[in-house]
Amino acid sequence: MPSKPRNRVGEIYGKLTVIGLSDRRSKAGNVYWWCICECGKKREVSSDCLSNKKRKKKTITTCKKCSKEI
Ligand SMILES: [Zn+2]
Repeated sequence: MPSKPRNRVGEIYGKLTVIGLSDRRSKAGNVYWWCICECGKKREVSSDCLSNKKRKKKTITTCKKCSKEI
């Protein structure tokens, strides 16, 4: 049994707010979280991409649409 992920609902990463746990799991066993962007679009984001550490290159802080606009 994989350990239960820490509840991150309500946490904010850039434009994304975590709204719920996804059923999806990465091959490495990381959970995915449903996030909602400031623009209203939802995006499924792997837990290891949700970080406020800006140095982390793979950090995701917007939906796919907004990431193209930056
Ligand atoms: Zn967006």
